[in-house]
Parts: sequence; C-alpha cells; structure tokens
Amino acid sequence: MIKRLISKIFGSGDTSPSKSATPRLKTLTAREHGINPDLVSGNAVRVTSTLQDAGFKAFLVGGAVRDLLLGVKPKDFDIATNATPEQVKRLFRRAFIIGKRFQIVHVMFGSDLIEVTTFRGAATDGAPKDEFGRVLRDNTFGEQPEDATRRDFTINAMYYDPATQTVLDYHGGIADIRKKTLRIIGQPEARYREDPVRMLRVVRFAAKLGFEIAPATRAPIAVMASLIDNVPAARVFDEMLKLLFSGQSLACLKQLRLEGLHHGLLPLLDVVLEQPLGAKFVTLALTNTDDRVKQGKTVSPGFLFASLLWHQVLEKWQAYQASGEFPIPALHLAADDVLQTQTDSLALQRRIASDMRDIWAMQPRFDRRVGKSPYKLIEHPRFRAGLDFLVLRAASGEIDQELPDWWTDFFVADYEGRETLMVSAVANAQRTSKKAPPKNGQKRLPAVKPVADSDVPETGAGLPPAPKKRRRRPKKPASPNPSE
Ligand code: ATP
Ligand code: MG
Repeated sequence: MIKRLISKIFGSGDTSPSKSATPRLKTLTAREHGINPDLVSGNAVRVTSTLQDAGFKAFLVGGAVRDLLLGVKPKDFDIATNATPEQVKRLFRRAFIIGKRFQIVHVMFGSDLIEVTTFRGAATDGAPKDEFGRVLRDNTFGEQPEDATRRDFTINAMYYDPATQTVLDYHGGIADIRKKTLRIIGQPEARYREDPVRMLRVVRFAAKLGFEIAPATRAPIAVMASLIDNVPAARVFDEMLKLLFSGQSLACLKQLRLEGLHHGLLPLLDVVLEQPLGAKFVTLALTNTDDRVKQGKTVSPGFLFASLLWHQVLEKWQAYQASGEFPIPALHLAADDVLQTQTDSLALQRRIASDMRDIWAMQPRFDRRVGKSPYKLIEHPRFRAGLDFLVLRAASGEIDQELPDWWTDFFVADYEGRETLMVSAVANAQRTSKKAPPKNGQKRLPAVKPVADSDVPETGAGLPPAPKKRRRRPKKPASPNPSE
C-alpha cells in the first residue's frame, strides 16, 4: 500500500541526477584545500601514478578525499579512472575484477586493498530497474563530470590528484564541508528511489561526521523509508555493519530513529531502540564498540549482535522457563526464536549467528565455579568473548560484578590460585544464599555447588588440565538448575 502510494507520489520513471544538477567545476590548489599529502597511502599513490603513466586519468575519490579535507587519515582509499576494468587489471600484478551491480577492480599490495572504479556515465535511463525504480545493474562508463554527478553526496564527489595536489570539486563539496552540511546530489526523491540505501548512508555520514542534513535531502526520507524493504537483505546488512562499526554507532542509531528509518525495515533496530529494559545494556555495548573502533581494535559482529539482542533472548528465556521448559533447553529455544526473526529479514550470516549462539549459550556456564567446569570453560574457543559479554552484563547491573571479576582472576591464576578461587566461590555462595532468601516465592537457583572430591582435577600444576571426556548434553536435564 505505502509502496504503491510512494510510487504514485513520486512516480517510478527516471529522474537521473544529470537532469537536475549541472556540474560547476572548481579546481583547488594545495594552498586552497590544505590537504596534508602525508595522510595519503603510498599504495594509493602507486595506483594513481601507474595509471597516469599509462596515459589514463586517475584520482583519489569519495570518502578518502572527504576525510583528507577534514584532516582525518582515511581508513581506505578509492580510486576513479577513465581506464576500463580490463585495462586496470592489466597494469597490476594482483588485480581482480569483482562486482555485478557495479564492476570494480581490487588492486592488492600484500593485505592492503585499493578499490579502482571506472568513471560511470550519468544516464540511468537504460539501466534495468525494479518496479519501484531501483537500479539493478549499471555498468555504463562515462566521463568524469558524469561520474561526479552519479555519486551520492556533494562531499563524496571530489577528486584529488596526488601528482599535482589539486582537488576537483564539481558540486560544491568544499563549501558543504566548511558548512558541515550533508547534501545529496541531484533530486533527492529520484536518488533515493534509484538506490534506497542512500537513506541509510545519509544517517551514517550525518552521525559519523557530525554534519547537518540539508533540509531538501532530509525531507523525503520519512515518506520513502519503506523503499528499503525492496533492497536485498545482504546489502542492507552490509550498510548496517558500516553504520554499527563507524565509531559513532550510538549516534547513528539515534539518528536512524529520528529519521523514522528504524521502523519495520530492520527488526533488529525495532528491538534495540524500543526495549526499555535493555537500553542500558545496549548503550554500553555500543559505546564499547565505538571505543574499540576509535582505538583501532578489532570488533566482532557476532559479539555486537549478541549484545544488541540479549535482552530479547532474556525475555524469551524467562518465558520458556515459566511455561515449564528446563533452563538450558529454554535458553536454546529463546536463541532459536530470536535468531530466526533476525535471519529472515537481516540476512544474518551463518557464521555471525553461530558466534552469537556460542556467546549466549556460554552465559549459564559462568555460574558453575566448581570441579572441572571452570577448567573446561576457559578452554572454550570463544571464552574471551563470553567473558567480555559477562562483564557487560555486570556493568549494566544485570548480575553482580563479583562474577566477571572471579572469572578474570581465575583465567590468569595458576593452579593453586584457581583452587583457592573455587573454594572462595563456594563459601561466598553459601553466605549469600543464607543472607538473601528467595524473592516472590521463586526458587533460588544456586550459582555454585560444594566441591566434590571427584570434581577436583588431579593434575595441572599451574596449567589447566586438558579436558578429559566430553559429556553429552542430556536432551532434558534432570534438574531445573540453570547452572547444570
Ligand atoms: P567510508 O569512510 O565509510 O568508506 P565512503 O564515502 O568512502 O565512506 P564508500 O561506501 O566506501 O563510502 O563509497 C565510496 C564512494 O562511492 C562514496 O564516497 C561515493 O562517492 C560513492 N558511493 C558509494 N555508495 C554510493 C551510492 N549508494 N550511491 C552513489 N554513490 C555512492
Ligand atoms: Mg570508502
């Protein structure tokens, strides 16, 4: 319905940007733009100079030029050229043509990847489109001014030539950078219809750069948001990852909500932004991710998505237990439900979903602090992720800080230290269970049980013993203890 209404209002005919935007080229010298050439990667310069030596035009383009103008070291470098993908490929030893919707060339130097694109033509009239006007495939090559017009925002449509140190600005990008304004090139409605992902990009860049969205760029988003439903889930997911790992994820999610882009189109965000219970947990997880990105540390999608959806899992876990399921199967059922909803619409890759499940499934195991269990748990390949998750749970107030502290100590302690820690955990548990009677008639589930002699590992001076025989998980545990 809404989609039909939108195509009625805006039509689905072509309104390519070239028809509404006439490029006015400005050329800026080094003194005028002030780019620090030391921030440009040596490999990117190798690519532009190789192409130029072979008689082609070649420039840094897009985000790299934008970041250089902002004085920020770009995280990656894209190159635009008038050489065709085949011609580019022939000039480099390790170059691969990839992509269907847009063919690009990946030029590799060790693990460093430089993306090279051929200037695109402006007209999208002939390009195959879906029923809503979304361009499905477009590999028509063109001239540089057309290429500039085809780019998304004025600040992303500038070209920098490292050889002459000049910047070519076709759409007033420099002025917009100075005004801190994000402005789409061409007629906004037409550009969003051609590629609805541009609406998500508006949000990402506005939040990441702290820029204002130009009113005409912003206005159609609320009405056109639902067009994102027609974009293949994998592409939306890629853009979501960029958004979540932009170093400004919290700001991005707030902005998504502000623009009305989170509703319906991404079930994950409906959950994340509208659950009062998990708000603190989610905020902590996102802040943590932003900090890691800013410090250049690795970030794992599995960990972040496990965090974003934890309170939904918790809620369902409790509901399954209330309906009579035992805790461990109840947790697995809850995880299945949550993953199912997200995989259907978000194209959550199997590897990410499996990381999430591991992290969740590990949580009740942290309650078992006697016998062989802790030794087995620290051998788990995802132990560090599970422990980081436990730390987040404590920081959000869901569990006592004592638990992650204990595990952190246990992880680094020698054999003697670990044995002492296990004894203290038992004593601590006995003290707490005497002090605090169960609330609301609920049965308190002991976090640890007393150490039985047979549970104590016999070997391992200083090192955790190798796990002996793997115990099979019973289909239905005999006891309703979550720590079993
Ligand atoms: P980042 O710093 O996140 O990499 P970026 O601007 O480089 O930002 P990319 O996704 O790497 O973003 O895209 C490179 C360039 O390609 C953009 O700057 C823009 O010029 C162009 N571009 C990317 N996606 C689109 C799109 N959907 N529509 C039009 N142009 C696009
Ligand atoms: Mg980029």
